[in-house]
Amino acid sequence: MILVLRPDATLEQIDHAIERIKELGFTPHLSRGERRTIIGVIGDETKPNSEMLLQIPMIEQAIPILKPFKLASREFSKEDSSVYVGKVKIGGGSMAMIAGPCAVENYETMDTVAKYVKAGGANILRGGAFKPRTSPYAFQGMGEDGLKILKDVGQKYELPVVTEVMDPRQVDLIGRYTDMYQVGARNMQNFDLLKELGKTKIPVLLKRGMSATVKDLLMSAEYILAEGNMGVVLCERGVRSFEDSTRNMLDLSAVPNVKGQSHLPIIVDPSHATGRPDLIPSMCRASVAAGADGVHVEVHNCPEKAMSDGPQALLPHQFLDLMGDLHKLAEAMGKTFWKESAA
Ligand code: PEP
Ligand code: MN
Repeated sequence: MILVLRPDATLEQIDHAIERIKELGFTPHLSRGERRTIIGVIGDETKPNSEMLLQIPMIEQAIPILKPFKLASREFSKEDSSVYVGKVKIGGGSMAMIAGPCAVENYETMDTVAKYVKAGGANILRGGAFKPRTSPYAFQGMGEDGLKILKDVGQKYELPVVTEVMDPRQVDLIGRYTDMYQVGARNMQNFDLLKELGKTKIPVLLKRGMSATVKDLLMSAEYILAEGNMGVVLCERGVRSFEDSTRNMLDLSAVPNVKGQSHLPIIVDPSHATGRPDLIPSMCRASVAAGADGVHVEVHNCPEKAMSDGPQALLPHQFLDLMGDLHKLAEAMGKTFWKESAA
């Protein structure tokens, strides 16, 4: 890190800054110009102490040299990493198609949707059992009963499953049923949850918060990685904007942006990004073209009766058509959607 001191810093204040930097366990390198004094600070910038450097009096600007995220960074691995969810490989040329209803509602619906998405070429089944709803009066999910249904149906169709975890206290319970945890947009910066998930060996689908920068997303990933769990897949799902004709604003540039800064796989969720079935297929195609390692969509056989996010669900036949296009696009990108037979 380079610390730039204010032009009016006195000799005494500069000496104090040097002493304080040493006290915090870093090595200062002083450079005094005619008008400016800058101090090069050498040491591990991921240490909690580095925050304290910014509190030293007379510091005008701090320019980090190392990225604040280390294990998630491109510097850490030049090669794209891949994450296994059950047998399904995400990243390194192998793509995920995560599909299913927003929420697990009952066995029959889960079974019907799973049958369709499996036939259409999905390789991971989704369904929320604990739902983060904006209203406390809206359907909150089936809880453990929903987890059991999801797991049973996943096994029946030989699809690994992903489901949302909202609280550190749910980590053990959900871990008994799922092949992948989902951290939703609303919990991307639930740091206690991220730390708990980092202590498990189950991969995590980390969705971008609705007002989070790409750097924020990578910092959140770092929380999981720093605890030892390297199975992190990022997910762009749109951010809040002034546009009100779509649910969120899909930031597709996040895909190549993340790929430049990180080795982690990234997938895109056009369902929550747009909230509109008429826009989801084209945004799925664009996601693959942008270099995503997978796509996540909500599918329901009867959206009218869905207990959450019905208006954005694709019908099974729409999903089937979409997969046809995505296979062609994946091929053009030199990738394939993971399939048992091809593994
Ligand atoms: C979901 O996947 O159903 C969900 C709630 O997504 P997000 O956290 O992206 O809003
Ligand atoms: Mn949903």
